Amino acid sequence: METWQEILQQSITSLDELARLTECDTTALSEVIANFPMRINPYFFRLLTAPGDPLWRQVVPDRRELDPGPCLEDPLGEEGLSPVPNLVHKYPDRVLFLVASSCAVYCRFCTRKRKVGSDRLRVTAATLNAGLDYIREHPQIREVLLSGGDPFLLEDEQLADILSRLRQIPSLEIIRIGTRVPSALPMRVTPSLASLLSRFHPLYVNTHFNHPRELTAEAGRACALLADAGIPLGCQTVLLKGINDDPVTLRQLFCGLLRFRVRPYYLFQADLTRGTDHFRTPTSSGIDIMRSLYGHVSGMAIPTLALDAPGGGGKIPLTPNYLVETGEELRFTNYLGTACRYPEAG
Ligand SMILES: *Cc1c(COP(=O)(O)O)cnc(C)c1O
Ligand code: SF4
Repeated sequence: METWQEILQQSITSLDELARLTECDTTALSEVIANFPMRINPYFFRLLTAPGDPLWRQVVPDRRELDPGPCLEDPLGEEGLSPVPNLVHKYPDRVLFLVASSCAVYCRFCTRKRKVGSDRLRVTAATLNAGLDYIREHPQIREVLLSGGDPFLLEDEQLADILSRLRQIPSLEIIRIGTRVPSALPMRVTPSLASLLSRFHPLYVNTHFNHPRELTAEAGRACALLADAGIPLGCQTVLLKGINDDPVTLRQLFCGLLRFRVRPYYLFQADLTRGTDHFRTPTSSGIDIMRSLYGHVSGMAIPTLALDAPGGGGKIPLTPNYLVETGEELRFTNYLGTACRYPEAG
């Protein structure tokens, strides 16, 4: 059987290969991939059915990525919040730490598309040491979020080394890993990866699924291996125009994730990232989708819809409004539109 490294090695990264395999005209795309790299691994490629389908649009480059739009290179102001390279300290008690530079596929809507997969994101012994020192010297940091790039693209030994060095910091309580591997290259989740991770509890993994067609048998097996290793699994989904911005698709996705023992965590309004404006939806459409979920499906299947404020303001939850009137008696409408009341406490 092929290893995950061998599968990744066969990824489509050039327009010639893409044109040969899809019989599509790719002549207009060379400037796109010169700016933002392409990687479509054979597992994910087999899930694409036709040009423009919801999985296709996540990974196949598009001319519109060159449109300037209103978007920003660094939409979350991460560079200004980085006390040391590859570490973002925005919230008091937790930091984002970029420990890997590449991914299993390059998502065309990626918030960090300015740097992932290119030499603008370099992870070296020096950046790892500096990040670890920073966390050690700031004991108010109780949680680290490992991201990148995708930390699961590191070899087992590299990942184990980073995790064990983090675990030597007594003030650090929680380790959280963000990864798209369970949906984009599930064969990377091996029994040895799961058992390695289980040595570093409390360790959480947040996956990234965007469409119910990503819920394959292989993806289910990857999530089961992680869940069986005692790892609580969450999911961060991005709301993407024409891909998943409708109630039926997201209901299927979120309920399917629960069956995989993955708890939907965030549904993100797309960031103002340069090269991704064609994926943005009106905020009202996300709020309407949330309204179609609350009360109608298990609360465990419902993530928080959030937008990340441009410039580093942090995540803002967006919730449908059920409160109609405040005062001595609160008036609401419930999920069915029925009027409800609650006497305010004195
Ligand atoms: C999203 C994010 C976090 C984590 O926020 P949670 O609401 O705890 O998931 C932490 N740091 C940065 C810089 C982030 O962008
Ligand atoms: S896997 Fe995550 S970091 Fe990598 S390209 Fe996709 S969204 Fe960006």
